[in-house]
Amino acid sequence: VIAESNGTKPGLLLAGHLDTVPGDKESWRFDPFEAKIHNGKIYGLGTSDMKSGVAALLMALKKSLSEKPKRKVILALVGDEEVSLKGSRFLIAREKDFLKLARYGVIAEPTDLKVVVAQKGLLHVKIIFSGKRSHGSTPWLGDNAILKAVEFLNEVKKLSEKLVKVKDPFLGSATINVGKITGGVKVNIVPDKCEIQIDRRVVQPETIEKCLNEFKRILSELKIKAKIEIMGMPKLPFKVNENSKIVRVLRELTNAKLIGETGYTEAEIYGKIGIDCVVFGPTKKAHISDEYVRIKDLIAVEKIYEKLIRKMCF
Ligand SMILES: [Zn+2]
Repeated sequence: VIAESNGTKPGLLLAGHLDTVPGDKESWRFDPFEAKIHNGKIYGLGTSDMKSGVAALLMALKKSLSEKPKRKVILALVGDEEVSLKGSRFLIAREKDFLKLARYGVIAEPTDLKVVVAQKGLLHVKIIFSGKRSHGSTPWLGDNAILKAVEFLNEVKKLSEKLVKVKDPFLGSATINVGKITGGVKVNIVPDKCEIQIDRRVVQPETIEKCLNEFKRILSELKIKAKIEIMGMPKLPFKVNENSKIVRVLRELTNAKLIGETGYTEAEIYGKIGIDCVVFGPTKKAHISDEYVRIKDLIAVEKIYEKLIRKMCF
């Protein structure tokens, strides 16, 4: 769903997603599809992530656009954010020129009214070591793929210890998790295959290429040949300049702390096309049973969005 205001100068993108994660009724106290009001909260699937943010954007837009803005206000609500970002990718591919009219952006994901200015990137890789099979009683005739993986992992461990020493003020350190290892057939066979899977969380100024090169360098120093496969779509680390107008204005309006987030939002994807994005929204109770939003947060956020639109675009 796309809407735009009058105004010819580049302005503000208000962004959100309309999908939710699946709701599993059995584990909920209230019907996830009912929006039950209880104790000052609205319970229901998507109340936090992120129907409330979207509703607040719509109300703020309606109120502020009773007057004509000088700068463009664009509302973009997409589907498929929780799975594969097809909505925002489609939007960006098709409406690149139109989106140039957005200089700044706010993603209305739940943040407990904190201003998110940075998030980690993500790279998942599979590394496949090959060797040569032989009988377990004659290991010298074979080439043990598991032992190659072990040599590699020892170096990866050293690398991750080095990464922990570098700290970003918002996000802490980049990390490496070796999450899975498979290899070998039987105790008395020299294994000819071993596969490991690594989760690499990326912090600026790191790039995906830099992270891949670290693994390649270790392999080449050890003189081990292995195949590196990227799993899924890597996500770039994202950070908006603290002096950007949208950060300054939101800070003024909320007095809130600037924070970094380990979770993913579409700030990355809009940031990549040059929009200065922050993430700001109500109660953060996403992806859980009995998901809820505090009504007072919802109202507070709506007022802040309205002021934000006025300050940025009028
Ligand atoms: Zn979300």
